[in-house]
Amino acid sequence: MIRSTNLGYPRIGARRELKRALEAHWAGELTAAALGGVADELVSAGLATQRQAGIDIIPVNDFSLYDHVLDATALLGAVPDRFHWDAQAAQVDLSTYFAMARGVQRPGLDAPALEMTKWFDTNYHYLVPEFVADQRLRLASDKPLRALAAGQAAGVEARVVLLGPLSYLLLGKAKVDGLDPLGHHLDAVLEVYAEVVRQLSRQGARWIQFDEPCLVQDRTPPELAALRQSYAALDRARGGDTRFVVATYFGDVDAAYEALTGLPVEGIALDFVRGARNLAKVRAAWPRGKTLIAGVVDGRNVWISDLRARLHLLEELTGTVGPDHLQVAPSCSLLHVPMDLKLERGLDAEVRPWLAFARQKLDEVVVLTRALNEGAGAVAKALDGNQEAMERRRASHRLHDPAVAERVTSLRPRDFERRNPYGVRRAAQAQRLGLPPLPTTTIGSFPQTAEVRQLRQQWRSEELSDAAYTEAVEAEIRRTVGIQEEIGLDMLVHGEFERNDMVEYFGEQLDGFLFTRHGWVQSYGSRYVKPPILYGTVRRPSPMTVRWSAFAQGCSRRPVKGMLTGPVTILQWSFVRDDQSRERTCQEIALAIRDEVCDLERAGIAAIQIDEPALREGLPLRKREWAEYLRWATAAFRLSAAGVEDRTQIHTHMCYGEFADIIDAISSLDADVISIENARSGAELLRVFREHGYDKGIGPGVYDIHSPRVPSVGEMAGLLRDTLAVLQAEHVWVNPDCGLKTRGWPETTAALRNMVAAAQAVRAELG
Ligand code: GLN
Ligand code: ZN
Repeated sequence: MIRSTNLGYPRIGARRELKRALEAHWAGELTAAALGGVADELVSAGLATQRQAGIDIIPVNDFSLYDHVLDATALLGAVPDRFHWDAQAAQVDLSTYFAMARGVQRPGLDAPALEMTKWFDTNYHYLVPEFVADQRLRLASDKPLRALAAGQAAGVEARVVLLGPLSYLLLGKAKVDGLDPLGHHLDAVLEVYAEVVRQLSRQGARWIQFDEPCLVQDRTPPELAALRQSYAALDRARGGDTRFVVATYFGDVDAAYEALTGLPVEGIALDFVRGARNLAKVRAAWPRGKTLIAGVVDGRNVWISDLRARLHLLEELTGTVGPDHLQVAPSCSLLHVPMDLKLERGLDAEVRPWLAFARQKLDEVVVLTRALNEGAGAVAKALDGNQEAMERRRASHRLHDPAVAERVTSLRPRDFERRNPYGVRRAAQAQRLGLPPLPTTTIGSFPQTAEVRQLRQQWRSEELSDAAYTEAVEAEIRRTVGIQEEIGLDMLVHGEFERNDMVEYFGEQLDGFLFTRHGWVQSYGSRYVKPPILYGTVRRPSPMTVRWSAFAQGCSRRPVKGMLTGPVTILQWSFVRDDQSRERTCQEIALAIRDEVCDLERAGIAAIQIDEPALREGLPLRKREWAEYLRWATAAFRLSAAGVEDRTQIHTHMCYGEFADIIDAISSLDADVISIENARSGAELLRVFREHGYDKGIGPGVYDIHSPRVPSVGEMAGLLRDTLAVLQAEHVWVNPDCGLKTRGWPETTAALRNMVAAAQAVRAELG
């Protein structure tokens, strides 16, 4: 009998109940007990949904109040000292838990939160475990036990999900130089995990799922040895009725396959959607008697599966592993897709049947399982409906615009190159722009005040006419341009008052994108995002930013930068069609941006910034795939930028300071100026640029926009001098780390005034 299962379900609630409860709790308006009540309801709703859908084995403990990695930190009692947690306490209490998540500042306790970083290549962020030398670990949370009890009470066959010990250690960060968490702390971590396993076994756990997604990244032999050691230890701790699953997802396990399939565990989850090579591994050798949890329904995207093709794959897998040893599953936790398509009203009627959110993906898993057990005839209606939707999707003209296809296929190498090399462009731009040395500018956005947000809202809800809205936005722009002139900035911006989310702003004006109302996905904690759905050919029906930029330029004699979001970032922050390559889709976006760039140039805009904050996060999980990604991603950027004349200056911006391993790619963007985050990194990062021989404009941020703090003139001048010790003055620009939209006006103008004064002071020293 083949069984259906799942690896994890969205936690946030159909109506974002979790967010509301958390925020009320943090505001002191909801007690811990009441918050726990909301959490319990969400958990039991999730269990009921999965059971009603017909899922046989259902994950528990996949729910989290904030983050599942933080849950593991609490489980291990790995609370950093700065949170003053009472190490005698039986459990990590809720306020310590949230302190680690969000930081605390109250009399007697001032501790910044744990660092946050991306969960593999998703848009989910986890809290990074911290390791010190004398780490004392012990079981400090009964959450898995309570989760199991809830599953048992609901009468489902529950599988307790834990972050695996190897991944936990690899996802953390040593806080002391030279400490290797795996070498130092594996035994201690395993002791606690063993205790959890013992207790779960005693409580009658039939399944425990250890998530080890780090196995889809490059792993060293000592790391694989640690994997073996871990599961040998956990095997010793369990009682006879508890079965183990090690779950991998987000890619191929490649060289880890042998170690993985040799573990003393009953089940192994493999991703057959993003792990194209996993199938060959299973074909070549599957350990007899082990259960394969086959991830065949895409947990990372929003499209329906091609059920007939998936069925075909599953039939082969059944043949290989045997019907008693196969479970059908999504490719990963469904945390990364929106809850339920049924919540959507008014979605494009043609596209809707192509979509499957978490709830619909459960149905797919169940249909596939039934087809295997009872024959395709038992689910003929579902399979036929799916087939029809697939065919309609394939045939839709909205996926195949001949004009765009023609444009893409006739691209020539020179479409990806500026007309002349940087040296020639530099002279033409210098002449046109007439900027002083160390020119000052900003990254684009200015404070998004409540009034500005209200303005956009009123316009969207048609309370405000187009004309009134335009007038109001123009007034904001005029005022902001005036303020920048008065502060003495050299290159101005219009302020981005017409946009909130940058990808949404462009997506809404391009063909090929769809927006949901309830399609929320957890980004971190109580922050959710609603990514656009890029379903079809991307086309730009008309200019998107020209009127605002042209208006802003009309307000000043100084150059005003045009402000666009780049093709890679738009791609990266959307759910993207899966019926053609990402490279191809990115080219289509690039062509649309290119048209906008050329229109801005025609409107007299002398400098145009194309933001690519998401370039780095698109890097594949396997190093050997980096080069191919960077090839097409940088080509798409150049395609978007290269249509302009020499004298038009192309800027780009990236809000991070990690360039060492992608500096060649950054250089190949061939942008005339790049602004980067640097206020917290200092000269170390800039050495990467110097050693590479980077010879174009570069603006290392001189102040951190993440805090309202106003840095002094001296501080920023100091940073600038440090920069000039590493980079040649003729290349250096002066700007903040990132956009100012989250800041208030008073601190913004104060900081920019100081920044301009710092630039002037250092300029004078140049002689
Ligand atoms: N131009 C954008 C802004 O200033 C850039 C945002 C970003 O890098 N994420 O807001
Ligand atoms: Zn930024």
